[in-house]
Amino acid sequence: MTSLIHEFLKPGTNKGMFYGGQFQKPHKSDVIEVLNPATAELFTTVPNGTADDVQAAVTAARSAFGSWSELDPLDRSRHLHAFADVLRANMSALALLESTITGRAIREMNAQMARIPEWLEYFASIAIGLEGESNVVKGGYVTMTHYEPLGPVALLTPWNHPILILVKKLAAALAAGNTCVIKPSELAPVSPLVLAALASVAGLPDGVVNVVTGGPATGAALCAADDIHYIDLTGGTSTGRKVASLAGERLIRTTMELGGKTPIVVCEDADIKGAIAGTLFAAFVASGQTCVSGARFLIHDKLYDRFVEGIAARAEQIIIGDPMDETTQMGPVISQKSKDRCLRMIAQAKADGAKMVAGARPLDLPDDFANGFYVRPTVFKDVEKHHELFLEEVFGPVISITRFNDDDEAMEMANMGAFGLGVSIWSRDIARAHRLSLKVRGGVVWLNDHHRNDPRSVWGGLRDSGFGKENGWDALRAYLTKKSVIVRTAAGHDDWFKGEGRYG
Ligand code: NAD
Repeated sequence: MTSLIHEFLKPGTNKGMFYGGQFQKPHKSDVIEVLNPATAELFTTVPNGTADDVQAAVTAARSAFGSWSELDPLDRSRHLHAFADVLRANMSALALLESTITGRAIREMNAQMARIPEWLEYFASIAIGLEGESNVVKGGYVTMTHYEPLGPVALLTPWNHPILILVKKLAAALAAGNTCVIKPSELAPVSPLVLAALASVAGLPDGVVNVVTGGPATGAALCAADDIHYIDLTGGTSTGRKVASLAGERLIRTTMELGGKTPIVVCEDADIKGAIAGTLFAAFVASGQTCVSGARFLIHDKLYDRFVEGIAARAEQIIIGDPMDETTQMGPVISQKSKDRCLRMIAQAKADGAKMVAGARPLDLPDDFANGFYVRPTVFKDVEKHHELFLEEVFGPVISITRFNDDDEAMEMANMGAFGLGVSIWSRDIARAHRLSLKVRGGVVWLNDHHRNDPRSVWGGLRDSGFGKENGWDALRAYLTKKSVIVRTAAGHDDWFKGEGRYG
């Protein structure tokens, strides 16, 4: 099967969309161009899906729903384990494909890809343990609850971790017995198409995993499709507002994994060497393009200068270059638009009076990469609370550092703005770190580490970072509805309206 991935690794491969267990021709010939972010060259095209394509994929998902949802959970679990095995067997080729499309360094993709099958294995396993309840209740009744899947569901995914984020959603949705129509990001749609084809190779029935490609209009058509019964989005906050409004009108439940501006709080008693290494990873892994990228650094006055000097020096040493080179530590950002946003926010930070302590050197890239969307790891110190860089998500390798003097001030600054997603707190005093974790606004708080993710560790935000959870039982249950069945056990029957009535 690696041959399919190798086919997609060849520039220009466009096999259409994937639904009903095969690649399908789109209804119209309109395409979306997919660039290689490292070179800015056209890599391939994918169909720009229309409402007709969406409808065809939803119909395929509906056809598969009956038998998939009726499978015994143990049999669905076997399918998902087989899918995990196929992913594991094709891991290196998938990592290569993912790096080509996203520009993420291959070293990073290999590490990430190695863990992705675990999500399928985890949800395949816990779904077997899903049990209803039974109660004997007043009046002579036994009540029972059963979990039921919802139907065809829509998964809308971003470009920064095309396979990881998709598999987190897909594993929970499928284990619960739903069928899926995926709309991947228009910037990185190739690996999700391959993933759906690999699901077929693993023996999942046709129509269980379907992909339509296209941009926001295709996504909106999917959200509007009559037979979609849940929408799971990871994306920007403004997209979340639009999708949640539409879902609200249709009374469809949703999960919204949205943006963030992740605070990093480094206390004066932190292990400074460990904190610098850990927060450098938090800030610059994936070129700063993760929803929980460490972005708003808050450093205690007592170690501020040492920390700033240390992290700036380490940021300058990060090796930028060809994502396919094993020694490259950081690749480009995803697009010219993303690069322009980073450069505009860097210019604004300078104009606001923050001091740039890393990132000023010009890029020194081989000719082939001269047009790539590269941005140097950039560090600003003395950023103030009213600066744009303090409040706004960059989604690129640009961080802000601000000084604090006590825990209350740190918490006030950490909790500014409307996001509430990731946070990390660094202190050797675990009781203090724990106290701060209770005061800080965020859905995922790491103490003395950052960005650790596991199928068992619940993930999700609040306020402008969205709602609902990935990972864990919460994610599985989100894809299910609980039905209550009430059995009369009392003898005889009731007759509320007995008698002949007042007017005879
Ligand atoms: P995006 O919002 O532009 O797109 C996300 C997906 O939604 C894409 O598939 C897109 O085509 C689709 N879409 C866009 N507009 C739509 C509409 N009106 N109706 C239906 N679908 C629509 O996001 P992006 O640029 O791909 O990703 C970056 C954003 O995602 C960042 O803000 C980042 O913080 C966030 N993100 C969040 C998490 C999390 O776990 N909370 C993880 C990764 C990324």
